[in-house]
Amino acid sequence: MSTTWSAGRNRRDGNDRRAWAAWVACTCGWAREARPLGWEQIGATSLREGGEEVADACLEDWDQHLQAVERAAVPTCPRI
Ligand SMILES: [Zn+2]
Repeated sequence: MSTTWSAGRNRRDGNDRRAWAAWVACTCGWAREARPLGWEQIGATSLREGGEEVADACLEDWDQHLQAVERAAVPTCPRI
């Protein structure tokens, strides 16, 4: 199992070139809803620093997904 991190423009139209979002997706098809990067807050700081909060949130999404997968993978039918 592996994960894909993405960050990109979430609006193709419009003139706001800073309309970026980050999200995490899994090879199993699971994907978390994109989390918009708050440019109002990032503003003066670099994306690396200002985007940390969103990156952390994505990591939490991923952890929750892994836990859900592990719970689902628990065998319910013992081998004889
Ligand atoms: Zn998955």
